[in-house]
Amino acid sequence: MAKRQSFADKASKKKHEVICPVCNQAVQYTLVVAPEPVSGGKSFKMRSRNVGICKCNEKSVLA
Ligand SMILES: [Zn+2]
Repeated sequence: MAKRQSFADKASKKKHEVICPVCNQAVQYTLVVAPEPVSGGKSFKMRSRNVGICKCNEKSVLA
């Protein structure tokens, strides 16, 4: 059975804005490049990913 999207879901997707349920602030997506262990853990490769940043984690992500 398919889940029906609520109107609020559709509206938030249209605006491309995510509100953090914890701090109630808009989440900003930022490309963060960080080393990631390769299988075996003996070497690393640089990997970029989009990270959502809000008041909850901005210090740990941007430090
Ligand atoms: Zn937050």
